[in-house]
Amino acid sequence: MPLLPTLGLTIVYIGHFAAAAVILAVAPETPALPIAVAVAWPDIVWPGLVFAGKESVKVDRNNPLQSCVKFTSYPYSHSLVLGGALSIVPAALAGLIYQSVLVGVLFWVGVLSHWLLDAVVHLRDLPVLGWGRNDRRVGFGLWARPRLAFVLEYVFFAASVLLVAPPSMFVGLLGGGLLLHLFNINSFFGFTKKNPVGTPKRFALLALVGYVIAIIWFTMSWQ
Ligand SMILES: [Zn+2]
Repeated sequence: MPLLPTLGLTIVYIGHFAAAAVILAVAPETPALPIAVAVAWPDIVWPGLVFAGKESVKVDRNNPLQSCVKFTSYPYSHSLVLGGALSIVPAALAGLIYQSVLVGVLFWVGVLSHWLLDAVVHLRDLPVLGWGRNDRRVGFGLWARPRLAFVLEYVFFAASVLLVAPPSMFVGLLGGGLLLHLFNINSFFGFTKKNPVGTPKRFALLALVGYVIAIIWFTMSWQ
């Protein structure tokens, strides 16, 4: 994998961390780490499920754009009802680890925020129930207008941070967020003719690495 174009496809959607900022602003005593993990949760378990063959994705080798990635099946990680119900397990675990019901509840809220924000950008591929042949799939499809999506995602993140975060965190959150967002740029502007990631497993692995970096960045910036 050539390094630069691959970096241009680091799959981190910083818009999710706007939700983390809002949750932490509403409940300032909450530690940042479990909330940062929560808002990313569906995308953290998704790579493992792709590797295990339980969920699937198709990457178009001849097009790097995000709108050409087909999320063919991801009911466990990305459905509202089934995914939401399954995420009660990690939420309860977070509550136990931090000895706080509030942390558990806010973890769950964070996971649900992921689905809602994904529904804005994804094409119509997000399952509602997560089972059944006639399950409804939703998605407002902002990714179909990639340049606009790229700008709006950062504007949404930055506006949320400016509204709810303490000013001392502005530089770390806005600067680090911009850097992570720029790593996504090839998925929205299509600088390369081919998709440098190429295979679903590489795509999933890159998403995992990207989110781990993003969780570290957000947790360190929110203090
Ligand atoms: Zn997602």
